[in-house]
Amino acid sequence: MLRPFLLAAAALLAGCSTLGVERATESPYPPDFKTSCSRLDARGDASRALRWYRVSAEQKVAYRQAYQRATQLVEQAAQGRTPGTWAVIADADETLIDNSVFECESQFRHWTTFDDARWTQWVEARLATALPGAVSFSEVVRKLGGKLIVVSNREAPKHLQATRENLAAIGIQFDAVLLSTGAKDRDKTRRFEQVQKRGIPDAKLPPLAVVLFVGDNIKDFPDLTQANSGDPGRFGRDYVLLPNPTYGSWERTRLR
Ligand SMILES: [Mg+2]
Repeated sequence: MLRPFLLAAAALLAGCSTLGVERATESPYPPDFKTSCSRLDARGDASRALRWYRVSAEQKVAYRQAYQRATQLVEQAAQGRTPGTWAVIADADETLIDNSVFECESQFRHWTTFDDARWTQWVEARLATALPGAVSFSEVVRKLGGKLIVVSNREAPKHLQATRENLAAIGIQFDAVLLSTGAKDRDKTRRFEQVQKRGIPDAKLPPLAVVLFVGDNIKDFPDLTQANSGDPGRFGRDYVLLPNPTYGSWERTRLR
């Protein structure tokens, strides 16, 4: 699930009466998402994190670098394994797909808290794009005989169809999408165990050996949290982490 970025400067501006702010608060939603980032850019107060994520060379290189490593790891893992018996688990948002347009719109409107209805309208728009390297990585997993299981905290059932259609439309190859069933199901452990121990009957998948986890949040990896990021040696070996400075489970960690 995406949590809009908290922008202190924007919060200060929220009550002022400049034309830009009036427009931002009066515009109907959903807006024309094609102009979200250019509207924000024209106003000149986009966060540095969002600018880095959306337009920097470093973001593209970092994603491609991570997916190159992920590709090497599945090529190694596939050796000696029977096709159809193993899987990669990947998160969706800011791992396979890019929702930074929604982030632009959120900053443009000075939204500082998550709003499920707004997020659902973005999900329904099916406008998330593929992140660099994600499509070719998904193709490699399938070609080598692996299954790509998307485990996301978008919500089932309301987001399932749009998420599947969005992924398919941009060329992400996948075998199943396991979403959260609600507020009490944000921890992905149950779904990780389902893939490994029980399989996914709806997708006609047996229990699968998970050879790699890919995600942008520490909680995309089994049992890891902000307080316990586990064995660093597993990253680049069993886990591949993608960079997301725009939002995450780190947001409420106190500065020190
Ligand atoms: Mg994510």
